[in-house]
Amino acid sequence: MSNPKTRRGAISVIKPDRDRRFVTEDNPFEAMMSRFDDAARRLNLEPGLYKVLRSPEKQIIVAVPIMRDNGEIEVYTGIRVLHNTSRGPAKRGSRFDLAVTLDEVKALAAWMTWKCAVVNLPFGGGKGGVICDPTTMSVNELERLTRRYTAEIIEILGPDSDVPAPDVNTNERVMAWIMDTYSMHKGHTVTAVVTGKPIEMGGSLGRRDATGRGCLVVAKQALARLEIPLDQATVAVQGFGNVGSTAARLMAAEGMRIVAVSDKKGGIYDPKGLDIPSVLEWIKEHRFLEGFPGAKVISNEELLTLKCDVLVPAALENVITSKNAGAVKARIICEGANGPTTAKADAILDKKGIFVIPDILANAGGVTVSYFEWVQDRGGYFWDEETVNERLEKIMSKAFDEVVAMADKHGVSMRIGAYMLAIERVAAMHRMRGLYA
Ligand code: GLU
Repeated sequence: MSNPKTRRGAISVIKPDRDRRFVTEDNPFEAMMSRFDDAARRLNLEPGLYKVLRSPEKQIIVAVPIMRDNGEIEVYTGIRVLHNTSRGPAKRGSRFDLAVTLDEVKALAAWMTWKCAVVNLPFGGGKGGVICDPTTMSVNELERLTRRYTAEIIEILGPDSDVPAPDVNTNERVMAWIMDTYSMHKGHTVTAVVTGKPIEMGGSLGRRDATGRGCLVVAKQALARLEIPLDQATVAVQGFGNVGSTAARLMAAEGMRIVAVSDKKGGIYDPKGLDIPSVLEWIKEHRFLEGFPGAKVISNEELLTLKCDVLVPAALENVITSKNAGAVKARIICEGANGPTTAKADAILDKKGIFVIPDILANAGGVTVSYFEWVQDRGGYFWDEETVNERLEKIMSKAFDEVVAMADKHGVSMRIGAYMLAIERVAAMHRMRGLYA
């Protein structure tokens, strides 16, 4: 058998770039950086630490050649960014998407650093992705792509260094392939190298619902803060994937009225409230919301500007921008997706007094239960779902309170408060550890 190591191609390491080129509203790295800069300034962060924290530690681009089912060889590009690992292994999602770019992966990697710090997990942040269209690939091709990508970045993978999880277009099955590929290289089974695995192979109960459940926890706290009774709260959810559909289901189960939901084709709206179990049944059969009986058809754009108490953007980045922020009528925005609001839109939402629960807090439930999964794998002892959910709720609601306290203390928005809390925690670790030279 050939040694898998000899099959790997060269890894090119790009030097962290400190240029601020490509300054546009929808550049995700810029969106992250402008919030980081604001928070860092308010914290009076030392100039040296400022430079360290804004520079991703490592950026790797690999060629991922695979044999297509028709016998032809195709080469994809894989990206891997470690933003900061001072608090622990880089925790990160790994996405397969045509829209993956180095700038996006850099932003998402930094967001993971801040997200893990906001909920105080012993993790740093990273992100990975392969530029591809998985909808045009067979299961066998996806498996070959996943395994080859894993082999290409194997030197940085590991339960103590870099731990992937599902993200856009990746799921439990992809995590199982990563775990197997890594384990075959190591010569023994290493379940803790990925999270979001199938339960049977060391996944955690509650992981699948965790991001949506986390949204529920913080949305409830925000409603309480604004003195809006749960059973009178109306909710609009953009995106009906794992995060959006779970948030809608759990919020409806708590008595909140889900007036609109949408997927990439468009949305459905009923001011009296949609019956979410029926919507879920419909999706199971028809894949898309389109045609759901009895509801009004609306566009994704319209959904964002509906009158409601809680708006949950749980689809993609940059949906709330300077162009539509002025028309948003929700009282609370609970960011289920990563980066749904641009920095320019933040200022407009702030002025309107909209209470924004920022992504690095609102969607941290997923990575929190990933942490539980990693702990369970390493301890070889598994918890029941009730324990997972209880501990998730405790961590999310503590983080919410800490962000509120930071925001109130400095008179800033929840977003800047969350960044300040996160940066302060990562900076504290750097100060204690000192600089290795
Ligand atoms: N992709 C998810 C996120 O962006 C999950 C990351 C994880 O569980 O490690 O938060």
